Amino acid sequence: MDRKLLLIILDGVPLRNWRRLFGNLEGWVDSGDAQSWTIRSVLPSISASCYASIHTGVSPQEHGCTGNGNVFRLSQPDVFGQVRKVGGVTGAVAHSFWSEFFNRAPFDRVRDIEYDEPGSDSINHGRFHTMTGYGLINQMTPSDVDLFATLSNLCARFSLNYGMLHTCTLDSMGHRFFHDCQEMDHACVVMDEMLAPFIPRWRAMGYEVIVTADHGQDARGHHGGRDPLQQEAALYYFGPGQGPPGDTVLDQLQLAPTILSRLGAPIADTMRGEVFLR
Ligand SMILES: [Zn+2]
Repeated sequence: MDRKLLLIILDGVPLRNWRRLFGNLEGWVDSGDAQSWTIRSVLPSISASCYASIHTGVSPQEHGCTGNGNVFRLSQPDVFGQVRKVGGVTGAVAHSFWSEFFNRAPFDRVRDIEYDEPGSDSINHGRFHTMTGYGLINQMTPSDVDLFATLSNLCARFSLNYGMLHTCTLDSMGHRFFHDCQEMDHACVVMDEMLAPFIPRWRAMGYEVIVTADHGQDARGHHGGRDPLQQEAALYYFGPGQGPPGDTVLDQLQLAPTILSRLGAPIADTMRGEVFLR
């Protein structure tokens, strides 16, 4: 495999916060360096259910993850496994749920916190964290710039073809402070500024880059149900592929087959969403 793509998932960022507060990403849309669309999450619009759907391309009703309390090794084909089938190298910097869904469960924090397994048929290079102890007064999330740096480190050391990064910082901030406040404005602009220098760096390393969220959050910081604030996020794409008109609303189930299409990896029969980049 000679193609390369990174998927960056900022957990729990509603569409209006992307458009209002992520000035670097929006600026790259204006300059023509990025394309952007609205993307609608599956139902339930709960983190774990969305992670599973983003990478398998099937709905929660099919993969069976009904929420954050129901995390297990999924049985459907997923992006990591499909990339491995054609010899691509995979990596992840993420919450431990991603390791449990796509590699092995339950999460053993000593064995699974960090692994390099070149022969794996799923994740070759994993760097995970559990957020154990998370609550409203202590987010237990790493600094996002450290996560972006860790992914860059894996890309450089192991020549990842596919890398996935996920961070819960903004989801945790939204649950704590809600969305119409200085704290949230500040958290989003800090994230935008921390992420921005990495995007041209990753592009220069030959990566296409997708930045999006798993779901949104409403005015009370809630998500899980059917509501545009809870389900809708922005998706930004940096690369040579051409997407649909800008007012198109993408379905979250389109992500997995689209990523595989960009990488030249086989799309599993279970992934029935339409590829949106050509
Ligand atoms: Zn989430």
